[in-house]
Amino acid sequence: MSDMTFAAFGELLPEITPMNAPFWEGLAQGEVRLQKCGQCDAYQYPPETFCYECGAQSMSWVAVSGEGTVYSYIVVHQMYHKAFRSFLPYTVAIVQTDEGPRMLTAMLNLRRPIQIGERVKPMIRVIDANRAFLSYVPVKD
Ligand SMILES: [Zn+2]
Repeated sequence: MSDMTFAAFGELLPEITPMNAPFWEGLAQGEVRLQKCGQCDAYQYPPETFCYECGAQSMSWVAVSGEGTVYSYIVVHQMYHKAFRSFLPYTVAIVQTDEGPRMLTAMLNLRRPIQIGERVKPMIRVIDANRAFLSYVPVKD
């Protein structure tokens, strides 16, 4: 499927701020990046100026695998936004990453239903030359 399919997702992306820019720049470069605490090594998302675990203000951004397991999901049958029109029905899942943070994600073009606990991996979907978003796909087809 052509990347052009995802162009309509551009208007759904959040405002890029100094706080979240490293995450979105990472996706555009083909990387999943999370904040990591320099004090206790905890990973976190969404980003903050301090660590959710220990409160230290020593967060830095690192590239991670982003792989994990399905923590929960729903299947969406109704069109809430035109960008999703050609993907109905699609899955919205919460992924428990191996690094720790849980990521909310849309899983598109699945060949079969996913299951709770199933292994999934990041699939970065390109919107245009400078933007991409994080989706997930099953590790096993
Ligand atoms: Zn910490």
